[in-house]
Amino acid sequence: MTVLSIAADPRTDVGASPLADVGVSPLADVVGADLQAPLVTGGHARYVNLDYAASAPALRSVADRVSALLPLYSSVHRGAGYASAVSTAAYEAARAEIARFVGARADDVVIVTRNTTDALNLLATAAPGPVVHLDIEHHANLLPWRARGGRIVSARSELADIVAAVEDELAREPAALLAVTGASNVTGECLPLRRLAEVAHRHGARIAVDGAQLVPHRRVDVAATGIDYLAFSGHKLYAPFGAGVLVGRRDWLDVAPPYLAGGGAVRRVRLDATSWADCPARHEAGTPNVVGAVALAAACRAVAELPEQAVADHESALLARLDEGLAGVDGVRPLRLWPEAERIGVVTFVVDDVPAELVAQYLSAEHGIGVRDGRFCAHPLLDRLHPAGAAVRASLGLGSRREDVDRLTAALTALRRTGPRWSYASREGDYLPTPDPRPLPAWAAAEALPTAGPCHLSQAL
Ligand code: PMP
Repeated sequence: MTVLSIAADPRTDVGASPLADVGVSPLADVVGADLQAPLVTGGHARYVNLDYAASAPALRSVADRVSALLPLYSSVHRGAGYASAVSTAAYEAARAEIARFVGARADDVVIVTRNTTDALNLLATAAPGPVVHLDIEHHANLLPWRARGGRIVSARSELADIVAAVEDELAREPAALLAVTGASNVTGECLPLRRLAEVAHRHGARIAVDGAQLVPHRRVDVAATGIDYLAFSGHKLYAPFGAGVLVGRRDWLDVAPPYLAGGGAVRRVRLDATSWADCPARHEAGTPNVVGAVALAAACRAVAELPEQAVADHESALLARLDEGLAGVDGVRPLRLWPEAERIGVVTFVVDDVPAELVAQYLSAEHGIGVRDGRFCAHPLLDRLHPAGAAVRASLGLGSRREDVDRLTAALTALRRTGPRWSYASREGDYLPTPDPRPLPAWAAAEALPTAGPCHLSQAL
């Protein structure tokens, strides 16, 4: 067991930054906003959720919509009962709402998937030719293409160079599809999608956008931007009920092999032949996630109803404060690719001399702050930005407020000045608070620990 403590380190005061009032309060009501997190040092603190990029909390309005649906929940498409009729209508209305939210063309299709990973894997079965992608992608937008021999373009140090490099690659050898992320889940930096779409189309390719990070933060207009396919996840868009979507052009998907073979995806089955349905049913075999789709649509509606400028102002004020706060903590180094890029509210950083896992455990155990540490399912990008290993990511959303950012800054300042107050045992790269007296709710621990008696966090991990 290794127990770490960090040497004191002087730093500047970050509490005095003169920023406007924007961001003082959350922009939307999220479930769990007042969660009290137990601390290893005793007592509780309001849980500061700085992990929106991994999974965002449910919007209150989304949870309400789910509660309204549940009494009427039933099978869709084939049931004759009233509840089936309501559920079927709600499911199909959800598809239309999602299409509206992303500005889909009239003849685009919305296929309900499990998440972004599922949506991109589905698209990988449908793309009728070679695929080009970047080397900075999340594994969800990397591995499906690699499995089918995708050609990699290395993302350069300037955004304009990336567009040129993609154009060179598409000119060198034709491709059916260019697959890019809308915003990096590591740096929060946004790609110039309109220009990339123009380049792809000029060379006879289509463009697919991994919108997992971008869609929760920016209004994406598929038709106006020239995006052919857009994938995103409900759980990052305030609808954590297990649905995602692939939105886009119907023709490839109408002739692709059904993603899953089974009921609902067919017109007619004989023992020796199957006639498959068109989209979306073709790729939605089995009982669909009606609750997830309705929740996702409710989130789309709720986000669309927020004033666009207010969302942008809220996020940019908090991001600026986060940047400023981190810059004031000695030894904290943000990871960036392109200084000129527009960014969503995601900042990944390393803390000199403190392993990322320890930083994250310390923030949670002693300050009630939730961040993500690791390599963010983007190993090639992390290899480039921080070859030494893992980093820490803080990410913002509609429920974030100024105090959240300031709590992070203060906690990191304390870490650099005096080190952790608790002991952390190092086990195979993980740092666990030892002991860990924080109780889990009994229902959360029951499956992990079938034995009776009080359960604590470190036992369940
Ligand atoms: N792409 C990006 C950019 C992501 O951040 C994520 C989630 N971390 C994914 C794809 C995969 O999303 P999901 O886990 O919902 O499939």
